[in-house]
Amino acid sequence: MRPAAGRPATAAVVTVGTELVSGIAIDTNTAEIALALAGAVVEVREAVSIGDDIDLLADTLRRLVASHDVVIVTGGLGPTHDDITREAACEALGLACSRDASIVERLRASVLRHTDSRASELLLAQADILNGARVIPAVKGSAPGQVVPTPRGMLVLLPGPPREMRPMLASLVADLAGEAPQPYVVRTSGMSESDVQLVASDLLGDREDIRLTVLAKLGDVRVILFGRGATSDQLRVAGEAIASRLGDAVYSTDGSTLPETVLALARARGATLALAESCTGGLVAASLTDIPGASDVFLGGVVSYADRVKCGVLDVPEGMLAHFGAVSEEVARAMAEGVRHITGATHACAITGVAGPGGGTPGKPVGTVWFSLAAPEGTTAFMRSLPGDRDAVRERSTVTALDSLRRALNA
Ligand code: ATP
Ligand code: MG
Repeated sequence: MRPAAGRPATAAVVTVGTELVSGIAIDTNTAEIALALAGAVVEVREAVSIGDDIDLLADTLRRLVASHDVVIVTGGLGPTHDDITREAACEALGLACSRDASIVERLRASVLRHTDSRASELLLAQADILNGARVIPAVKGSAPGQVVPTPRGMLVLLPGPPREMRPMLASLVADLAGEAPQPYVVRTSGMSESDVQLVASDLLGDREDIRLTVLAKLGDVRVILFGRGATSDQLRVAGEAIASRLGDAVYSTDGSTLPETVLALARARGATLALAESCTGGLVAASLTDIPGASDVFLGGVVSYADRVKCGVLDVPEGMLAHFGAVSEEVARAMAEGVRHITGATHACAITGVAGPGGGTPGKPVGTVWFSLAAPEGTTAFMRSLPGDRDAVRERSTVTALDSLRRALNA
């Protein structure tokens, strides 16, 4: 998208639905849309959620189409009486709708399932297209999307359910992007957000043809480079320079996630993996088994939450637990070696820590987590003091465990 006078195109996102403003459902569409649009060199400047209220929605759309090049609305396109987006858009733009015969044809099967003529009429309303709009066909679900020209650019109507919205957004973004290069993404783990940010911005200097964004999620930090004039080759060269400076913190530049990277490294090395998890309660195993086909390298794990299971299943000596406590280097090592022994895996990782909110002591405050890795080269262990509440400590522990497996497999 190339707006007039060389300024960057701006966008607003409107999510529609009483469930979104009443605390019943959480809006996830805005974040997806904003990130996707950034790749097409369109900056989201405003995001609004509005209940099922035609007048409020029409007023809001009138204001937003006057101040932004792209306005994207999700939700309220379906076949129920609370689906008011089409009508509000007509009102805001002063346009009428016409019923699209080919969409009516596609809706025919659903219409035949209803005996109540009012339900059929509501269903058919999904075929009402604003005059002058381009239809984005529904890949999933029944309501098509619409792209309506506005004096500044376009108003886009998309369905609310994320799985219906997503494929339409992808095709819209591909159109908007034109020749804009795909963003280049460098993913890292085991390095702080501010350190990653400093390395990346030092290397980029004051280049204006590339925009830098650093996204951090509990130990997993991503550098995203967006082209702002740079070609896709220039973007790749800059991304590779940043990746090379970040060194072994980088786990992928091809979109692979951290668990995917760990599994791929294990596969490439002919290694097998096992886990002994205490405070993460199986989160590390879940992240690996989320990926189809993990069973060829991930053998399994033990959630050894109680001391009885640490002793009885993993063979951690009772005296060791009594003397050092469950959150200790000694116990972490014994857990890793124990699970490596019973599974026969080449690489075993153990996690034992204080996730909180209770259980902290002055010597071992909440967030103290011991990790151990038992591998053919021997057993190592390290401690981290992880910040945040219980969820954050568990999530950071999961990323740290995966990161330690990754580094061991890379070594
Ligand atoms: P449908 O044909 O399913 O009615 P629709 O376009 O009318 O499609 P809505 O009725 O607004 O969509 O929303 C349907 C469901 O989609 C909501 O109950 C919610 O679960 C989900 N949804 C809607 N908007 C969002 C959003 N912004 N973020 C996440 N989920 C959403
Ligand atoms: Mg609906």
